[in-house]
Amino acid sequence: MPIPVMRTSAWINVRNSRIHGKGVFAAKRIPKGTRVIEYLGDRISHAEADARYDGHDPNDNHTFLFIVDKKTVIDAGVGGNGARFINHSCDGNCESVIEDRRVFIETTRVVEKGEELGYDYEIGREKDDPPNVDEIFACRCGSPKCRGTMLWPAKDPRKKKKAKKKAKTRVKTSAKNKTTPRVTSRAKAGADTQGRSTGSRRRTVSRR
Ligand SMILES: [Zn+2]
Repeated sequence: MPIPVMRTSAWINVRNSRIHGKGVFAAKRIPKGTRVIEYLGDRISHAEADARYDGHDPNDNHTFLFIVDKKTVIDAGVGGNGARFINHSCDGNCESVIEDRRVFIETTRVVEKGEELGYDYEIGREKDDPPNVDEIFACRCGSPKCRGTMLWPAKDPRKKKKAKKKAKTRVKTSAKNKTTPRVTSRAKAGADTQGRSTGSRRRTVSRR
């Protein structure tokens, strides 16, 4: 049975956020593990996404692209729903879950009414990133655990001498969520037995 499309959600409403632009807030108390909304938009290839935003300011960190896998990106700038307004948070109350090559936002804890929803965008680093890339992708989530950047890994591994290539396929384990392996944006092969994996947002212009 295919999962029904979750274009809207009674769990949430969209309004202005203190973190950035618009945000998504709990319309009522949301239990832990609730599938809140689907991340919808135009499904295109990475090459198409690059072509679509060619000439776009690479220093504009405002992106609505979500990486589904090596082939597909969801561009929520076209045909997207409210899910695109969920802000990044370094210590959010949600996670993005990829299932059947679709993306859903699920709560990782109880979210009280009025709380802003957030998940880790885990935007990948790129080879020719400028030195100020962490400023461009600066995070203002306000969490005590804020790493200061929406990029992942938190620090550029290339700055440590001879970082091993296997860092790319490293499976991230989150202390609060031991059952679902979190994989980096470059390593989608690490999905668990249910074929679930967490995803990552993509830059508007990728130079991979
Ligand atoms: Zn942060």
